[in-house]
Amino acid sequence: MKSARVRLLIGVGLVLAIALGAFATLTYLLTERRVDADLDALLRTRAFALARLVDPNRMRVQPYIEQGLELERGGFFLQLFDVNGQLVGKSENLTEAIPLSDATKRIAPNRTEALIEDRVGPRGEPLRIATFARVDRPGNPHELWLFAQAAVSLQQRNAQLRTLRLWLGGGALATFVIALGVSWLLVNQWQRSVAAVERTAREISTQNLSRQRVFVSTDDADLARLAQAFNELLDRLDALHETQQRFVADASHELRTPLTILRGEIEVALRRPRTTAEYESTLRSNLEEIKRLGRLVENLLALARADGGEALPDREELDLAEIVRTIAGRLAPLASTREVEIAVESPLTIPIMGSALALERIVFNLTENAILHSPSGETVTLHAGFGSDRAFVTVTDAGPGIAPEHLPHLFERFFRVDAARSRADGGAGLGLAIAQVLAKAHGSRIEVASEVGCGSTFTVRGL
Ligand code: ADP
Repeated sequence: MKSARVRLLIGVGLVLAIALGAFATLTYLLTERRVDADLDALLRTRAFALARLVDPNRMRVQPYIEQGLELERGGFFLQLFDVNGQLVGKSENLTEAIPLSDATKRIAPNRTEALIEDRVGPRGEPLRIATFARVDRPGNPHELWLFAQAAVSLQQRNAQLRTLRLWLGGGALATFVIALGVSWLLVNQWQRSVAAVERTAREISTQNLSRQRVFVSTDDADLARLAQAFNELLDRLDALHETQQRFVADASHELRTPLTILRGEIEVALRRPRTTAEYESTLRSNLEEIKRLGRLVENLLALARADGGEALPDREELDLAEIVRTIAGRLAPLASTREVEIAVESPLTIPIMGSALALERIVFNLTENAILHSPSGETVTLHAGFGSDRAFVTVTDAGPGIAPEHLPHLFERFFRVDAARSRADGGAGLGLAIAQVLAKAHGSRIEVASEVGCGSTFTVRGL
């Protein structure tokens, strides 16, 4: 498996090689065509001019012709042949004549413009020759009477094109190497940042979760975003880990209290022989502590299940009014021992979709709290009905109310307004936390309104 770095470099290399190769080849071919077209046009003009300027009676290349055609400047040569292909004149700068080929003699008269050919000169040098055949002998307008030639050595042109090839090839190669090098450096820099994230991820343990964070240069917006998301994930993990640690510590503390009481009672009972009545009393007290332990373990389990994302039992068609009445009935014995009234205000039926177990537990916890916090002679009111489009339940008591500074913490695990009193009632500060967790899993929420001295109202909304 190739890394993204290698794949990126191969991709960049391929694209660059193709683009630069195509650019260099195209530039070379176009330039060569342009140079040849210009050269051919110059040669044709000179061959044509020579054919026109020469005197029919004295077929020679006169000095004024050489001057007029600027032979020196372009390194051109001139030759004149008669109708039989016999050399009759040439420019001064041409030391040795280039014979007229039979093919040229045959083809040139049929052309309206000069015929262009590449030939090899007497000393082996490459030449380009333009041949113009003049077919209007004075007195006989259709008779061929001379061949005028303009030639040039291709050495200079070839050398220039060779230089161009070198520049284009070298330039393309240099661009390729530089671009690939720069890509490699950039990709390497990027890779170093990725490696920093990887190193941090590997070094993280529960011991350093709160200290380890990734630092990436802000030059790279993508990586900075990735690092930020990673750091946010670490923050969340850190918060979760802290909550979990606190939960375990609180839970152990809560479990230790009843165990310490149990142990103390048993040790005292065993110190000397006791009467049957004394043993019975100790056992009853033990049983109370064991029940409290059982309730605590059950609540912890409920929270652990909810934390583990265990789905609520399937939603089904329910009657909220009936649930409220059932809970009121179940808590009636507790209410009567506390001399508290329970009033239910509800339509006959409130059909909703929900989980019966979860709803019963929510309403039970809220009502139990309301009863436990009501002074004797007061009434706890359970009110159920339809809000704007969803059903709701409110549990109202006329108890002592909750101070505003406690309200934000009310649904936290193990939070108790008055720890000593709460424990005496058997509470570990989990009842509201469980109710809220279940409500949220249910798609609803619990709100509280309370005033010290006037009582509290807990509302379950969005059912
Ligand atoms: P517990 O199971 O210990 O009662 P809860 O989570 O049910 O714990 O309640 C958290 C805290 O809120 C408790 O300390 C309790 O005193 C307080 N509380 C709950 N309901 C009421 C209420 N209706 N009136 C006054 N205080 C309440």
